[in-house]
Order: sequence, then C-alpha cells, then structure tokens
Amino acid sequence: MMGLRKLTYTDETGVLCLPAWPVFDNGELEAVRRVIESRNWWRMTGSEVSSFEAEFAAYQNVRFAIGVTNGTHAIELALRCLDLGADDEVIVPSFTFMSTGCAVAAVGAKVVFADVDDETYCLDAGSLESAISSRTKAIIPVHMAGHSCDMDKILALARAKDIHVLEDCAHAHGAEYRGRRLGSLGYAGIFSFQNGKLMTAGEGGALVTCRDDVAKRTLVLHNCGRKFDDEDYLHELCGTNNRLSELQAAVLRVQLSRLDRQMEVRENNAKLLDGLLSEIPGIKPQARREYVTRHGHYMYMFRYSTRAFSDLSRRDFIDYLRRAGIPAFRGFRPLHLMPAFEGLAKGISLRRTDLKVSELIGESAVWIHHRALLGTEEDMCAIAQVIKKLQG
Ligand SMILES: *Cc1c(COP(=O)(O)O)cnc(C)c1O
Repeated sequence: MMGLRKLTYTDETGVLCLPAWPVFDNGELEAVRRVIESRNWWRMTGSEVSSFEAEFAAYQNVRFAIGVTNGTHAIELALRCLDLGADDEVIVPSFTFMSTGCAVAAVGAKVVFADVDDETYCLDAGSLESAISSRTKAIIPVHMAGHSCDMDKILALARAKDIHVLEDCAHAHGAEYRGRRLGSLGYAGIFSFQNGKLMTAGEGGALVTCRDDVAKRTLVLHNCGRKFDDEDYLHELCGTNNRLSELQAAVLRVQLSRLDRQMEVRENNAKLLDGLLSEIPGIKPQARREYVTRHGHYMYMFRYSTRAFSDLSRRDFIDYLRRAGIPAFRGFRPLHLMPAFEGLAKGISLRRTDLKVSELIGESAVWIHHRALLGTEEDMCAIAQVIKKLQG
C-alpha cells in the first residue's frame, strides 16, 4: 500500500481531505432563489412542499409522504395516529438516537426497551419477543446506519399480536429490505432531514405511509389540527405546527435527485472498506445480512478489540482518526442508561428487558460519518491504513 505522504488527497500535513457535507451545487442555490422570489415561503401558498412530498413518496414507494419539521416530530405524529393511553406500551431498541424513545414518552405512552443484535446493531427479534406484553401497542424498529432490521420476523411477531409497526428510517433513505423500500413495510415510516442525514435541509422530516387514515390524520395534526382547505379557522383536533417550509422542501427536492448516485458511491466504498478492515486483526465491521438489498450507509460502523490495539481506549482511537481527517464518532449511548430514563425517570413510564448488547455496542462502537464514503477508492485505502497504523 502507498504511504500517506505520497497521496494527492491529503493536505501538506498528511491529513485526509474527505468530501465535505452537506453536498450542494447550483441546484440548491437556484431552488432557494426560486422560492424567495416567489414570495410563497410556507406550504399553504406554495407548491414546493407538495411537490417534494409527491417525489419522495414515489421514491420510497409509498402512497403518501408528509413533510414535517423533523424526524422526532414525525415519530410523535405517527404515534398520535394510534391514540395511545398511559398504560399502552411501545417497544424501542435501547441502542438508537434519543428521539425514538423520547417520542414515546412525549405522547404519554410507556417506553419499553428491547435489545439489538450484536452484529447488525438492529432490533433483535428474540429480545423483541420477550419484551412483548398484552399492553404492547407498537414497535419501532430502527434501521441502524441504513441496515434494515429483520423485518419478516418483526412483522410476523407484530401480526400475531395485532401490534403496529412504525419504522424509524432516519438512517435509511432509499434503503431496502428484500427489494422493498424501508418505510413501506410498517403502518408508517419516518425520515429525518437534519444536517447530518443522507439528504438534508438543515432540519426537516417526513412521515410516509400507505394508509389513508394515517395520512389524513397526520395532515390535520401537523397543521395545528386544521384541514388544508379550511378558511374558517375551524380546528378539528388539538394538533401542533409541524409544517416544513417551502425553502426546506425546495432544497430537499434537489438533494433527493442526487441520492441514487451518492448511494452507489457509498455502496462501492463501504464494500471496499469492509474488505480492507476485515483484514485488520481485531476489527469487526457491522455485519450485512442477505435481506439487505440496498444499504443506506448512514454511518460506517465497526467495533474493535482493545486487546488487538494495545488496550487503546475508544476515546483515543477516535481522536487519532479525527486527527488524520476521518470524521469518527463514539455514537449513541444506550437509552436506558440516559439520565432522562434513569431512576425515577421524572414521570416517564418505562420497562426494560436484558440490554447487554446495547450496552456493549454503546461502549465499543466506532462510527465514521457517511461523507467519508463519498470519497475515492484511494481514500478508503487511506482510512484502512490509518487504522492499521494504530496497531503499531
Ligand atoms: C436523527 C434521528 C432521529 C430524529 O430526527 P431529527 O430530524 O433530528 O429530529 C430519529 N431517529 C434516529 C435513529 C435518528 O438518527
């Protein structure tokens, strides 16, 4: 392998120059200009949000997509369609972003934590089964880093007990399970367009569904409980304002048009990196199951054995990668160990199962942001080389 010094994609100091994120070009600039000049900056008078919704629904292969303020609100809206009470339970993996659990608490239901698989980091079907009770109303599988959960197993368990499945696709734009787009398998799916996600307008989210009733209810709820064509200030429900702006939607339309190309680059680079890192003793990349027909690659995740790296702490491991120009992170802490969910949990109702794997992954995973996967094949070799060098 080549020495870092000789490579053109590093700067003078030998630091890797990986692609910046967010990606944009004239398309975004022109889209924003178009909206500004139209003077229709909100969805009620413009057409950008509704055009984006139609395009995103077609892309995700669902009947409806509703643009909303963010992914967190999209989960809350989806759960509000279920009319949950204080005794109703919603199962979430402990290893996820805080919003997945918080949204359940926000709608006043009981949070139940289940564990994840130690190779895919996605909701474990066995743990899920043991977490189900007669009170379980919904399950929120999280497609971790864009790798689909084991949906046949999860859907079968849900169907047998009449439980609703809401897919958290915050990492999974364009990703698929056995040829089917994620978000189209449960009663609803949610997406995030926050700054770090696979397509972005800084903030933003979407709820997707094939169900008329869920789409209708969400449209009313996200618009302060008011029907779209209402001109009489007649509010049917106590909703809130979760509307996406025209400026965000205009940007997202351009971001969406670029996604397929970027997914192809990430897929090739992730496969290359899988091969390179698997050759380094003590490195174990997130596994990929055969049912993942399209991976989102929101993060490149792996675990390392401290023993194979002279007891190097994760903090030092990550600091080293960052100094080499690699956007590495420690990532999620398991939800059940959050102060917000600990002890008396300040009025939040929760229940937990055995969550050893979530704890293990929360302590040991290393994440590389997906912008690194938009680099060249040489960049992937250089990333592997940096990690190899850590071994001495
Ligand atoms: C980012 C994220 C969310 C929330 O999305 P926001 O748009 O930031 O509110 C929900 N779930 C997961 C798994 C996420 O990573």
